[in-house]
Amino acid sequence: MHMPNAKAPTGEPLLRNLPPTDELLRSPEIDRLNALLGERAVLRIVRSAVDSIRSEILSRAGQGGPFASADRSSLTAEAIRRINDLAEKKFRMRLQAVINATGVVIHTNLGRAPLSIAAKNAVAETGAGYSTVEFDLDTGERGLRGRGAETMIEEITGAEAALVVNNCAAAAMLVLAVFSAGKEVIVSRGELVEIGGDFRVPDVLALSGATLREVGTTNRTKLADYERAIVENTAMILRVHPSNYRIIGFTSAPTNAELSELASSRGILFCEDAGSGALLDLSHFGLADEPVIGTSIRDGADLVTFSGDKLLGGPQAGIIAGRRELIEQMRSHPFYRALRAGKLIYSTLEAILSAFLRDNQLEEIPVLRMLSVKKEEIRRRSEKLINELIASVDTDGELGLEIIDGFSATGGGAAPGTRLETCLIAVSVGDLSPNEIAARLRHAPKPVVARIDDDKLLIDLRTVDASEEGELIDAIRFVMQNPS
Ligand SMILES: *Cc1c(COP(=O)(O)O)cnc(C)c1O
Repeated sequence: MHMPNAKAPTGEPLLRNLPPTDELLRSPEIDRLNALLGERAVLRIVRSAVDSIRSEILSRAGQGGPFASADRSSLTAEAIRRINDLAEKKFRMRLQAVINATGVVIHTNLGRAPLSIAAKNAVAETGAGYSTVEFDLDTGERGLRGRGAETMIEEITGAEAALVVNNCAAAAMLVLAVFSAGKEVIVSRGELVEIGGDFRVPDVLALSGATLREVGTTNRTKLADYERAIVENTAMILRVHPSNYRIIGFTSAPTNAELSELASSRGILFCEDAGSGALLDLSHFGLADEPVIGTSIRDGADLVTFSGDKLLGGPQAGIIAGRRELIEQMRSHPFYRALRAGKLIYSTLEAILSAFLRDNQLEEIPVLRMLSVKKEEIRRRSEKLINELIASVDTDGELGLEIIDGFSATGGGAAPGTRLETCLIAVSVGDLSPNEIAARLRHAPKPVVARIDDDKLLIDLRTVDASEEGELIDAIRFVMQNPS
């Protein structure tokens, strides 16, 4: 009945229909969520779901709103829906294993280098429990942290000594802070680069307490430019590998050998931040221009810094290789204590370095294996995957699969000029946009991260392990079965 002066309905009676927390906690979904997230987290989620409904009811009181005529059972259903959403969001904040179908081998957002089987086993054997991280079994006393990995680095690179820290940024920072705080560091203008947003050479220098002395020009710097810049207070010449970009054309720079000769004749250090750190020459599979650590050492660099999880294919770590006396000075500096690596790093790093020592790196180390795979093999795998997909889905003509030529990327700021030829699978599903397909792939039981290029959803099997192909097929089926 409609009465002109009827009092507008308030939220009050509706609030009585809100399900109480303890009733919601007895619903069948809750056990599964408790097992996933723990009871305390689930309780917080249940309360916040009910609170959010309550405040929507109150804020819309008198104005109808979505719950204007809701009874207890529909409010309960709404609360359960919100609880599931919140729980899923919370769970997805945690690390999720994903399939990298982007073709970017060293994908920083996806954790850079996937570890070798030997490195995974090493986590269980020496990384997880008690191990001789800093213990000498012969004397029964405190030993040197990381001695095993360091010895292996020395053998592989020919350096006198080595030191491992948390990442390459830490390695560069330690070198600068220990040897050039309060002094000048000479860097070519062509090497004052930014690597991945938060590592900018001038900022790192300033933070370490050193003063930057820029020499030369963006494209050309001569030996004489360095020579003229050396003053009483100069600590070192620093060469920075520009990593993620290249200046091509009219360029020149002195060689490492020339710089190290100049530095030693003037009593200063020559250090190189090599970044991606190839332990061997990778030019035969198309990765030109990547400094090889052993070559830098042979050419006389006093210290070279590089990452553990770029072209080395290991865990996140920063490695400093070079002259023993300098390495020991860093090891006993208090700053090292703040940057030192833990047992998970040493266990996996030793397993990776061991592959190099046995000359088995191309077989064992996923990053190197993926970089060296030929286009023809990727084409063969792509065709096989397409056949399996077609055989296993009832597509109704909804699913489009096409092989096209393209390029993979090294990633991780390594070899930016390199174009790795590959075969891509372009996937279309009904009238879904590439963005919609990508979003659904990311929500598959095993999430898949794909690439969109030229308005196509693309899958590059270069970065997908053969053992993941079944899950990739499942993910594409999931896309077809779960219209949003
Ligand atoms: C990648 C890179 C760094 C930073 O290395 P992280 O291991 O990510 O800390 C520093 N310098 C150069 C030249 C690099 O390429």
